[in-house]
Amino acid sequence: MTQYQAFEHDVLIIGAGGAGLRAAIEASAAGVKVGLVCKSLLGKAHTVMAEGGIAAALANVDDRDSWKVHFSDTMRGGQYVNNWRMAELHAKEAPDRVRELEAWGALFDRTSDGRILQRNFGGHRYPRLAHVGDRTGLEMIRTLQDHGIHLGIDVHMECTVAGLLKDGDRIAGAFAYERERGYFRVFRAKAVVLATGGIGRAYKITSNSWECTGDGHTLAYDAGAELIDMEYMQFHPTGMVWPPSVRGLLVTEGVRGEGGILLNNDGRRFMFDEIPDNYKAQTADNEEEGWRYCQGDKSARRPPELLTRDHVARCIVKEVREGRGSPHGGVFLDIAWIKKHIKNSEEHIKKKLPSMYHQFKKLGDIDITRQPMEVGPTSHYIMGGVRVDADTQMSGVPGLFACGECAAGINGANRLGGNSLSDLLVFGKRAGEHAAAYARGTKTGAIDEAQVAAVAKQVLEPFEREATGETAFAVQHDLQDLMQAKVGIVRNEADMAEALGALQRLNERARRAQVEGNRDYNPGWHTTLDLHNLLTVSEAIARSAILRKESRGGHFREDFPKKDDAAGKVSTVVRKGADGAMEISQVPIPEMPPELALIIKEMG
Ligand SMILES: Cc1cc2nc3c(=O)[nH]c(=O)nc-3n(C[C@H](O)[C@H](O)[C@H](O)COP(=O)(O)OP(=O)(O)OC[C@H]3O[C@@H](n4cnc5c(N)ncnc54)[C@H](O)[C@@H]3O)c2cc1C
Repeated sequence: MTQYQAFEHDVLIIGAGGAGLRAAIEASAAGVKVGLVCKSLLGKAHTVMAEGGIAAALANVDDRDSWKVHFSDTMRGGQYVNNWRMAELHAKEAPDRVRELEAWGALFDRTSDGRILQRNFGGHRYPRLAHVGDRTGLEMIRTLQDHGIHLGIDVHMECTVAGLLKDGDRIAGAFAYERERGYFRVFRAKAVVLATGGIGRAYKITSNSWECTGDGHTLAYDAGAELIDMEYMQFHPTGMVWPPSVRGLLVTEGVRGEGGILLNNDGRRFMFDEIPDNYKAQTADNEEEGWRYCQGDKSARRPPELLTRDHVARCIVKEVREGRGSPHGGVFLDIAWIKKHIKNSEEHIKKKLPSMYHQFKKLGDIDITRQPMEVGPTSHYIMGGVRVDADTQMSGVPGLFACGECAAGINGANRLGGNSLSDLLVFGKRAGEHAAAYARGTKTGAIDEAQVAAVAKQVLEPFEREATGETAFAVQHDLQDLMQAKVGIVRNEADMAEALGALQRLNERARRAQVEGNRDYNPGWHTTLDLHNLLTVSEAIARSAILRKESRGGHFREDFPKKDDAAGKVSTVVRKGADGAMEISQVPIPEMPPELALIIKEMG
């Protein structure tokens, strides 16, 4: 009999980032018993790192903004393969979710007449991002936590879920281990909400925290849910490239929103070279107009630095590949140049971008008020994830919900900056509400001790292995190199086929990776367990990317550099076959209703 501590909740939420906390608040407000599990300490989830802001059409800075423009921008940014219903709900509900956050105590930056200030961001037609300097995620987490903590949510910190438990087809709970002592916990629950965030740790260069190992994606997949759109991986154009120890650390798009420009080693603003056709009408064609836009001139169009992330990242890669990069393999991002236009520019930059100022000063000895930064693409966000119902966020497994970055649909092939934080609020709330309703209408499922024993065995098995000299850290390192080189920003068939073979070998190595010591405080053991998740999501990305023979958003194929109309009508779905092998297929994207299609047409 497996030794564990047992807990029972109506709704169990796995993950305490913005999505998990918002879901927990909503479920708890509905009067059901809620448990919240997270790998790190409460308040430390990756959301805390979010910088630039929350996208919501509040129209505080530009009254031309509306949910319709936000919807249309999101669909255009996602290259029209988004789940249009999610994009609609998101655009309509985000303003209320931001106002609610304010009512719960979030202190946003203000307009001169006291309303929530909004800033420019890539792909958003009007200034739309509610923000708190460049520390928006911190304020969001602080507010949700303060609000949620009074609702009687049971929090289980530093506890990693290693498997979901089922009663027949439906969800029955989850199996977890405590990170400190390695003791086991079994959670019995009527509904489970996955809110585990992203997968960035599958790549060598990433902006993501250590927690982002694709756990929710893999837990759902192993439990029989489908993953969708896994080929769409976002590389943020501006991560630090120097010094090496912080390579990949994010440089917020807020820098470009405040007027920052991208330069190559000739000092040329290369972003004007290539403006995609579908953005030409909305993009400035000269520097002076771009600057006026950043200053709020409503007659000006946005500068090309604020085109979507997929495009900006590829333009940077092109400059570097063609020998026009910066000394450490990036390009230059210059905000200091605004001194030409603003008298007290140094103070202005420090006020608008305090974290960026400190980040570069402390880590790179660069004063961004006087010197340009060196930046390059960094893996940042996965658009793909658990396939869910747009309105309820329930997956194909009854009682299993997903929200936030581990769920898919709203962003299509490319996410606009700021749309994640609003996604967490809108769909976190919906997941919490519908999970609570589901729990109310059902009995608790039975916990099957044989399933518990099977997960416990898997989790402890690494301690039984013979000495092989292989370590989980070495396997993870090689996986990150592989994904970066072969399934990265620019892809082709041969590289990805090679990656699939290499993934197979890495799986074999992962099964041999040795664990030293015992269950107490053992990061080597934790990393060994993470490998299953990282390898599963990596395989899903590679297989999906091979199947999509076109280029779209965060998926760029140099062997198929154009968009293909037929491919734009289908989504890629991954599921676990009866024999345990990964199955992949394409499903049609449902036709958009005429009233939404009309909005897109009207917005031009
Ligand atoms: C540096 C940076 C800046 C960003 N800035 C912005 C921005 O300005 N605007 C914007 O919209 N987006 C931004 N993003 C993206 C955005 O922050 C993320 O997409 C978002 O925060 C993800 O939130 P989440 O709630 O889905 O997951 P997370 O915040 O990643 O939380 C995941 C939670 O799940 C838990 N967890 C994971 N696995 C397990 C497991 N097995 N068992 C138990 N718990 C588990 C973790 O401990 C954590 O609590 C930024 C991203 C980065 C990296």
